[in-house]
Amino acid sequence: MPRADPGRWRGAARECRRVPSYHGDVATSDPPAPAASGKGTPAGVPALSTLDRDDLLRLLDDLGEPRWRARQIESAVWQPFITELAQVRQLPARVRERVDQRLRFTTAAVASEVAADRGATFKLLCRLGDGQTVETVAMESRARGTSGRRATVCVSTQVGCAVGCPFCATGQMGLRRSCEAAEVVDQVRAAAQVLHRHGLGPVTHLVYMGMGEPLHAYEATVGSIRSLVRSAGISPRRITVSTSGVAPRIERLAGEKLPVTLAISLHAATDELRDRLVPLNRAHPLEELLGAAGGYAEITGRRLSLEWCLIGGVNDSLEQAAGLARIARRLRAHVNVIPMNRIEGSPWGPPDPAAGRAFLNRLLAAGAVVTVRDTRGGEAEAACGQLRAALQRRRHLLPDGTLGPPQRRAAG
Ligand code: SAH
Ligand code: SF4
Repeated sequence: MPRADPGRWRGAARECRRVPSYHGDVATSDPPAPAASGKGTPAGVPALSTLDRDDLLRLLDDLGEPRWRARQIESAVWQPFITELAQVRQLPARVRERVDQRLRFTTAAVASEVAADRGATFKLLCRLGDGQTVETVAMESRARGTSGRRATVCVSTQVGCAVGCPFCATGQMGLRRSCEAAEVVDQVRAAAQVLHRHGLGPVTHLVYMGMGEPLHAYEATVGSIRSLVRSAGISPRRITVSTSGVAPRIERLAGEKLPVTLAISLHAATDELRDRLVPLNRAHPLEELLGAAGGYAEITGRRLSLEWCLIGGVNDSLEQAAGLARIARRLRAHVNVIPMNRIEGSPWGPPDPAAGRAFLNRLLAAGAVVTVRDTRGGEAEAACGQLRAALQRRRHLLPDGTLGPPQRRAAG
């Protein structure tokens, strides 16, 4: 049964969205994560979030410390008030110092926090060890159909993105680099701490819908999911990975035995239009993408989502709606329609309400299961990539992507 109410054009569900630009070339392999990050730590220093137990034990052996200290160190990872090893009081100062030199306690620090949605959404700019910044969003909401709460964190997997969708702010930046797995896990830790500070959380759901293409940062994506499942106890079923359609990597992901939900950012039902909206389509056209997505659903048993950023006069025709409904039927997928969030430098925007309703009606008439999403948090520079862009305009963000000193407001 169709579930969307086309009258409720600006829907209730909140999601992390984003925005940016046009880069014709498409990266086909993981751009490197940095060799090092952290406060002046040397290259190759392991990060606690992704260190496995054996490596931690080896490190303690090297330092001549008892192995039971491993549990003290690990238990600090998800403590809401501990942001550095120096705060782990069970550890003697001598041990804290020595361990601190050998591993990075965290790789992502909150550099800016903007609240939205009456204090239920927090848009964070996280500073990584090399000074680059990524956006992370923490959202608290009521769990659908229950009285319980859910807290969702939306993470970034890259600084920028090489795909260059012309409606997306992150694409406008181009690609600086991919994140490390620990940098993704540490965004979740930072967001969990912010939620906790505001009396919200714990984190129950994760979405890989922040800056970047998660399947171009494959190691960071799969590595962070494994760490988060293991150390934060988040079920893969509560994790959604959104992709612009890197078909070979979808096939690889299907073999990882990690039944995460896959969201395909479709945005167009014909190759002609999709080549323009998602330039990656030129490398992996629709038939290849739909084949890989169908295979993913079959192997993992997970229902797919199809994302559709609805752009007035661009992909809101009834023909596109009919094509989308056909694809949704073929893949037995849920459809998420997201009215486009305006971005600087693009003339495009959401359709007018009548065109939006007509598009939804056409989908519903064809039997599609549809949700309309609203980014919310307009005050918080809603879509991913936008907060960063806004800070850049205010010159908090330096041209090389690192964060500069906060600007003083003019008096008066
Ligand atoms: N790169 C991945 C994941 C991050 S983008 C992907 O493209 O799927 C997450 C979602 O936000 C995608 O569906 C993307 O198309 C959408 N999005 C990007 N810019 C947007 C905008 N300006 N308005 C609405 N949705 C947008
Ligand atoms: Fe933006 Fe995703 Fe397109 Fe990259 S792939 S430009 S993050 S919408």
